[in-house]
Amino acid sequence: MSYQRDNIRRMAGYTPGEQPTDPGVIKLNTNENPWPPSPAVMSALAAIAPEDLRRYPSPTAAGFLAEAARLHGIGSDQLVATNGGDELLRLAITTFVPPGAPIGVAEPSYSLYPVLAAIHDSPVHAVELDGDWSLPADFASRMNAAGVPLTLLVNPHAPSGRLLDANAISAIAAALDGVLLVDEAYVDFTDPGHDLTGLTRRHDNLMILRTLSKGYSLAGLRLGYGIGPIGLIEPMARKTRDSYSVDAVADALGAAALADQPTARASWEAVRAERTRLIHALRERGFAIPDSESNFCLARVPDQSRQPAAELYRGLKEGGILVRHFGTPRLVDCLRITVGTPEQNDALLRGLDALLSP
Ligand SMILES: *Cc1c(COP(=O)(O)O)cnc(C)c1O
Repeated sequence: MSYQRDNIRRMAGYTPGEQPTDPGVIKLNTNENPWPPSPAVMSALAAIAPEDLRRYPSPTAAGFLAEAARLHGIGSDQLVATNGGDELLRLAITTFVPPGAPIGVAEPSYSLYPVLAAIHDSPVHAVELDGDWSLPADFASRMNAAGVPLTLLVNPHAPSGRLLDANAISAIAAALDGVLLVDEAYVDFTDPGHDLTGLTRRHDNLMILRTLSKGYSLAGLRLGYGIGPIGLIEPMARKTRDSYSVDAVADALGAAALADQPTARASWEAVRAERTRLIHALRERGFAIPDSESNFCLARVPDQSRQPAAELYRGLKEGGILVRHFGTPRLVDCLRITVGTPEQNDALLRGLDALLSP
């Protein structure tokens, strides 16, 4: 006999991207930043004292929040620190979605969203993206018609890399009856000038997810945060968040990472330059790729290729290069490729050339 709740028994868990232990593998499958974290982060790690570990950490991750508030020019009360961006998603669902009410998503998007919905025993209300991965014009009205209290929208979009600008996001927030959470996991890699934080002062239903996993090369640290109006942030920060979900090490290292903007910005600049070069090189080889403002691209295998995407994925893997292949109908002929260092991208292109050559 099973003691699990019915919804837990029925659901499948999240399938994370492969994390090989062999350091020789070229990992272009889980969208990590290929450049190392700031030296200031490593100094902060070395400065952690036994006393920092003996005592409980700041319940709000106050040191980190103060640095984030300075960076964004907002108050700490418009911020909540979380155990990775993923915890903010779970908090938003716990706080704003009555169990059983639908959670709105665009399809395809982050595969964790339906898993979190299943844990909450909520159905997913999925609206299909158009052929070019853009949102249908009636996106918000369809969410409203379904009575969706929380819509999760990843921007830049994963897995295509497409970016909706601030005007488009503002229009969706204005049209939605419920809360809009814009998942900005990849926002650091957008071309300069894109910034939604000002919008959170104009819309009382709009919040933003940020993470240090991608932009700050700290996926192993598990630190993210939410930005939003006090009416959305306060119940999460004071009521539904686990006490001490951000530990003392993450609090200190996260603050050091945000304080060193030059190192992070240099890595974003390098990723953008390589993104341009990689996409150009892949298009020359016949792949169809939407313009990406992220640190990955979605490459559709050329029609005339004798090798379907699944074969290319397997062939690359045999050669020690990991990319991501999704089995869903709309993505089955695509590879999602993380932008690596110049050397890693060259190895990928060589690997593809070997597999594609007649
Ligand atoms: C990486 C990612 C996140 C957050 O990841 P964390 O490591 O938990 O911060 C959120 N949304 C998307 C789409 C992501 O790719």
